[in-house]
Amino acid sequence: MITMNNREQVIKLFRQGMSYAEVGRRVGLSRQRVMQIVKPPTSIYEHMKRKARGICANCEVIAPSGRISGYREGTLEVSKYKYLCASCYRNEASE
Ligand SMILES: [Zn+2]
Repeated sequence: MITMNNREQVIKLFRQGMSYAEVGRRVGLSRQRVMQIVKPPTSIYEHMKRKARGICANCEVIAPSGRISGYREGTLEVSKYKYLCASCYRNEASE
């Protein structure tokens, strides 16, 4: 059973630039489980990407495969999500 603490840890490690598989090995979860925790469902992702027109909300670079910041598994508070390029996503890790 995954606790809130290792969920936070999964998100933190992923943000530091580890792959799904690496994070999974570190915390003892499958790659698929890690993906479920850090990645919004495809429909949400596509919605956010369309809304952002593929542009990073922080640095305004065109980010074809950006990441969704603010996502928490099981929540759909789309207004809190931001579409970010990979480097802005990583930089938010320290916040
Ligand atoms: Zn950016």
